[in-house]
Amino acid sequence: MNELIIIGGGLAGSEAAWQAAKRGFSVRLFEMRPNKSTPAHQTSHLAEIVCSNSLGSLLLSRPSGLLITELQRLDSLLIKCALESQIPAGKALAVDRKSFSSAVQEHLQNMPNIEIVRKEVKKLPKSPAILASGPLTSAALAKSLSRFTRQDNLFFYDAVAPIVQADSINMNIAYWGSRYGKGAKSGGDYINCPFNMLAEYEHFVNELLLAEKVTLKDFEKDIHSGVRGGKGKFFEACLPIEVMAERGMKTLAFGPLRPVGLRNPHTDSRPQAVVQLRQDNQAATLFNLVGFQTNLTYAEQKRIFRLIPGLEQAEFVRFGQMHRNTYLYAPAILQPNLQSCINPNLFMAGQITGVEGYLANIATGMLAGINAARYLKDEPQLTLPPTSMLGALCTYITTPNPHSFQPMKANFNLLPPLENLVKNKEERFLALSNRGLQDLSAYLREQNEPETI
Ligand SMILES: Cc1cc2nc3c(=O)[nH]c(=O)nc-3n(C[C@H](O)[C@H](O)[C@H](O)COP(=O)(O)OP(=O)(O)OC[C@H]3O[C@@H](n4cnc5c(N)ncnc54)[C@H](O)[C@@H]3O)c2cc1C
Repeated sequence: MNELIIIGGGLAGSEAAWQAAKRGFSVRLFEMRPNKSTPAHQTSHLAEIVCSNSLGSLLLSRPSGLLITELQRLDSLLIKCALESQIPAGKALAVDRKSFSSAVQEHLQNMPNIEIVRKEVKKLPKSPAILASGPLTSAALAKSLSRFTRQDNLFFYDAVAPIVQADSINMNIAYWGSRYGKGAKSGGDYINCPFNMLAEYEHFVNELLLAEKVTLKDFEKDIHSGVRGGKGKFFEACLPIEVMAERGMKTLAFGPLRPVGLRNPHTDSRPQAVVQLRQDNQAATLFNLVGFQTNLTYAEQKRIFRLIPGLEQAEFVRFGQMHRNTYLYAPAILQPNLQSCINPNLFMAGQITGVEGYLANIATGMLAGINAARYLKDEPQLTLPPTSMLGALCTYITTPNPHSFQPMKANFNLLPPLENLVKNKEERFLALSNRGLQDLSAYLREQNEPETI
């Protein structure tokens, strides 16, 4: 009973293995590479970083800085290795990918109670396990998962629309409303950004046509035939916005930007086209751009989407993207301690849980590793305070979200607001971080979980 199986030796699985092993448990870490690779990984190393080599800012006034500090407090192996493989990048924690993954692999190989098994796991085990097989989970395991989750709760593609901060939308231009006034709320459920003039709409479409796009990898090319964010089925209704624009100047104005039933109260007229923004979180601090799944580069999204009236100063907490991404509808499957509601022997971590970004994947691996060890020791589970960044992420992914459920990275909008208003943004972020760290320390003391710094 004291053995733990971990499926996937990526960022989450490697951190989870370290956390469980240093608590004295025997860990069998299954990694299918190099026998079977994913379309994105290039080496056989554990904890391979597949794309950007930056883990984000180290500043405590940034979401990534807070999460890095939380990880350090719980003795994260991967953050230790990242700091050892750090390369110059201003205030960001950028790493030499090869040194980083080699260091992680060496540490894990040197742990006498970790066995690294280079083999694909094809179905979920019955014995205690952590699932950390990532966004490119092998097909056989994904099939077993879809049986476990009853299919409807497993997504195969990420067709995510950009998300902006509500307080960065100019409501002197935008307005609340639902098409033909048919919303649940009296003022309307959507924030509407109107193109009042034909020329400004045409300028926007022309910029979309000229925009620089991300080059898709071979395994992602079928996404262009249209995709929805679930069940892996393709259909026309979810084409990238720039692909729709290619079909004709008026395609968007007759499609997702159709202005019908959305009269502009500022001008008392019907706009030429309207971009609708839908509430994205319970606190209504985040809104997503409806129908704006896209393959434009992040820089182009920022430039072009700020041409939308009302979004001139928009702050993006996430950009749109389309790539293969296997993840679960965690609210139906997971508890905030990352243990399955269906099978208590099973914990989950990493991208498969619906978190996004290297740090969030490492952090959920850390918590799953600690909680799986506590479960094996029959000790109480850790459910971290929602004021900490990791606690907030776990709360977010396990709370039913009637508006949308899409992968989420660390950001300050996930945290409950401060009791006292702090107007200066930098000071507010710092205050949020300090509160989170204090609450985390107090909670860990209560739970007899040692902190390293
Ligand atoms: C193309 C692409 C680009 C990305 N770019 C970025 C980026 O720039 N920044 C960012 O923050 N995030 C990026 N991501 C997301 C990135 O994948 C995650 O941040 C991170 O690697 C996920 O960590 P993880 O541990 O959940 O999964 P991974 O790190 O992918 O680890 C999962 C591991 O499980 C193994 N595995 C899968 N199935 C099985 C099985 N059946 N049996 C045994 N082993 C298995 C895989 O080989 C892999 O090693 C990108 C993802 C993709 C697909």
